[in-house]
Amino acid sequence: MFFDVHAHLDMINEDEKETVTNQTDYVKIEQIIKEAKEKNVNEIISCSTSFESNKKNIMLSKKFDEVKCAIGLYPLNLIELTNEEIDKAFDFFEDELKTNKNIIAIGEVGLDYKYSKSEEEKDKQKKAFIRFITLAKKFDKPLIIHSRYAQRDVLNILVQQDAKKVLLHGFIDSPSLIKQAIDKDYFISVGPILIYNQEIQNRLKEINYTNILFETDSPIKFNGEENYSKKIVEIAVKLSEIKQISLKEIEEKQESNYLKLFK
Ligand SMILES: [Zn+2]
Repeated sequence: MFFDVHAHLDMINEDEKETVTNQTDYVKIEQIIKEAKEKNVNEIISCSTSFESNKKNIMLSKKFDEVKCAIGLYPLNLIELTNEEIDKAFDFFEDELKTNKNIIAIGEVGLDYKYSKSEEEKDKQKKAFIRFITLAKKFDKPLIIHSRYAQRDVLNILVQQDAKKVLLHGFIDSPSLIKQAIDKDYFISVGPILIYNQEIQNRLKEINYTNILFETDSPIKFNGEENYSKKIVEIAVKLSEIKQISLKEIEEKQESNYLKLFK
């Protein structure tokens, strides 16, 4: 079976602020899960971004067996919070991790320098990132990591902090950094970009798929196209073409990667 290791089912409303509690949303999510399962995509990890998003994803993971939850704060969201609010969020995470078996990862957390240009903001992101790494180690959970314009810092901090289980989301920009990550036995999740982008396809040809997992980052549209978890199979088919190995083999490898990281 296949897995979508990075989605945002809480954002199904498009408007992130709106809470997924009404029946229409549930029907929509039920449909997404059903269509995914028809393509043998049987588990979806819904990653959290804001405080509100954590609550929604926890709720969805309780409601649907196929949904697992990652808890955390997206780097651009956390810079909006006061230090007290961040402390409060970490207390909440600790409490949830102690009791809630639907939480299988910490994410999405990391560094994003695209819109955070001041040293002060970067510093705030780094401090929180280190706290998330410590939290992940304490509860033996993998980290699902976002990095934008910050790949080198992300890798350096992970190594310095001796992070154990790491999944780098969409970390496919630099062949040399990909190599460094794989040398550390970190995992990389690849999304719909693989279907369309020749350069990424060439890059992936070089990588040993021992460290690859698949993600959609759905429901965020890709290339203006509708994007849901069922798309995982198209990404897997593309990788099997690139690697010239059977889809079955890709599926099995991805399954053992998933189990190695999340179970
Ligand atoms: Zn994401």
